[in-house]
Amino acid sequence: IRPEQSQQAAAEYVQSVFEKVIARNPHENEFHQAVKEILDSLIPVLAKHPKYMQQGLLERLVEPERVITFRVPWVDDAGNVQVNRGFRVQFNSAIGPYKGGLRFHPSVYLGIVKFLGFEQIFKNALTGLPIGGGKGGSDFDPKGKSDNEVMRFTQSFMTELYKYIGPDADVPAGDIGVGGREIGYMFGQYKRIRGGHEGGVLTGKGIHYGGSLTRTEATGYGCVYFVNEMLQAQGLSFEGQRVVVSGSGNVSIYAIEKAQQLGATVVACSDSNGYVYDPDGIDLKLVKQLKEVNRLRISEYTKERPGAIYTEGCSGIWSIPCDIALPCATQNEIDEHAAQLLVSNGVKAIGEGANMPSSLLAIEVFLESGVLFGPAKAANAGGVAVSALEMSQNSMRLSWTFDEVDAKLHDIMKNIYANSVKAAEEYGVPGNLVVGANIAGFVRVADAMLSHGII
Ligand code: GLU
Repeated sequence: IRPEQSQQAAAEYVQSVFEKVIARNPHENEFHQAVKEILDSLIPVLAKHPKYMQQGLLERLVEPERVITFRVPWVDDAGNVQVNRGFRVQFNSAIGPYKGGLRFHPSVYLGIVKFLGFEQIFKNALTGLPIGGGKGGSDFDPKGKSDNEVMRFTQSFMTELYKYIGPDADVPAGDIGVGGREIGYMFGQYKRIRGGHEGGVLTGKGIHYGGSLTRTEATGYGCVYFVNEMLQAQGLSFEGQRVVVSGSGNVSIYAIEKAQQLGATVVACSDSNGYVYDPDGIDLKLVKQLKEVNRLRISEYTKERPGAIYTEGCSGIWSIPCDIALPCATQNEIDEHAAQLLVSNGVKAIGEGANMPSSLLAIEVFLESGVLFGPAKAANAGGVAVSALEMSQNSMRLSWTFDEVDAKLHDIMKNIYANSVKAAEEYGVPGNLVVGANIAGFVRVADAMLSHGII
């Protein structure tokens, strides 16, 4: 067989698997998108190693091991009964217990949880740590809810979820809408139901009850460490660069913090209502106070900083000229048009802090333009990597210092970068970190699956 023939056979095989995914999971667009991106990028590795086209490996990989959907009833402050829907998708446990966050957001439905769980498999493998892929969440909207309502909801959520999780089985963490407060309530409820302190059942815990230092900062810091690797390989750095960071949640805040520490000027950030442009550089202390302490909208920012401009709507943030763009808000926040704007305004590097923030067409625009592109699975893997380090510390019943964890995180991000670069070169697409990261993650999971036989 000539190489083009095996390439074509692999492409046809991938297409047939993709068509089955669409047929079996109708209307789950985000899941289709995530699967398409992965499968297409695997063609070179399938062509070179036909073993990955055997034993129904891909067909098994795209089918979650288990999908759990449940009712979450709770009583709001006015005494009304509310019913939400809860999900946990246990996607793949070939290399470790299912690991991945919980998202509380009104947009959550099965297709979103599957896309996130699917991405998580490869991202987690890429960290080099022993964690499988999973994700969960609810269509509950924490926005505008009182502390007590959030507590009652999360307790009800955990009263069902606890049956399916455990330190060696499935270890949830946070994602959009789930931070330290929610993890605390869920941990309390799990501990109460189980009647014992199983520290490693959740990550992102508070420091006083088994959490890891640096976990809060990990996704944002990790994203900047990754982009820094891409820049350094070109003789560039963050020093003096103009950076736009979308979002103002946990990922964005710590991406801004690290970018500023490395000498960049971050000129904009956003929330789901709109964005602020602060040409003198975002006042991070103010953003932290607004978002982390007072839980207010980012529009409040201009009250304290009159020199800044607030604009309604979030997509406009990508029209601000910048050297580095860090999309840290949510999926598909950069479409083809936004990608073209960024490129024509001279962007040099993109680092995806959110999960799947660029559409498939946007990724094409970035790759064709030759800008440095750090895909989510690689660039935002720092969060889950430190979650795995939190699990290690819980198992050992000891805690590392902030600097120890930060140094490990930095090393992990450097390794992810190096492994992605190496895989991209090995499979004939040098510099394409989308393909590199996907293949590097895939090979680890696929080899484990082949060792386990058909299960
Ligand atoms: N939700 C984060 C992610 O998308 C973190 C998951 C975790 O720490 O388990 O990777």
